Amino acid sequence: MRALLIGRFQPFHKGHLAVIKKILGEADELIIVVGSSQHRDAVENPFSAEERVEMIRRVLDTEGVTGVQIFKVPDIGDDNRYPGHVMEHVPSFDVVYSGNSLVQRLFSAAGKEVRAINLIKRKEYSGTEIRRRMTTGEKWGHLVPEAVVKYLNEIKGVERVKKLEKGTG
Ligand code: NAD
Repeated sequence: MRALLIGRFQPFHKGHLAVIKKILGEADELIIVVGSSQHRDAVENPFSAEERVEMIRRVLDTEGVTGVQIFKVPDIGDDNRYPGHVMEHVPSFDVVYSGNSLVQRLFSAAGKEVRAINLIKRKEYSGTEIRRRMTTGEKWGHLVPEAVVKYLNEIKGVERVKKLEKGTG
């Protein structure tokens, strides 16, 4: 069985990693879609699609997770066409895993099996919360895998998030 997981991964955090491991306990293969791939250097989307793919690859390598393919998919203006648009970018799949109600609804309407994800520590394992902490100088490193901390240090990711928040990025 081949599964699909869509996310913005701004940035990739420990909730995402836990979900990937859970899915691979049920599915043989996983397609990860890095969504909103056209966005970068924006307050809610600081990291480019290439950077997000790199974060995910490094974490999966470190964790020894195999059976995963990663694709970048831009958004489109028409939600109802989104499932078909994603399918044009990725190999065939059997089931979509998501905790996002819009994604669940759209793929169900397109005839795909959808399995809901239970959010883990949703207040902390959250891209919005992690970016907020980066901006205020609060601790955030424990909320993402170590490989993401290292990568964000390499690309000066926290500086970027702070600059974007201040409007000077
Ligand atoms: P996300 O990075 O917030 O989450 C990715 C997945 O991980 C989701 O299924 C989410 O429920 C799950 N997750 C997040 N935090 C978790 C936690 N703490 N514990 C367990 N699981 C957790 O991404 P998202 O917002 O769901 O991404 C949806 C993507 O689909 C976006 O890029 C969006 O733009 C795109 N989209 C586009 C259109 C369009 O272009 N018209 C329509 C719908 C969706």
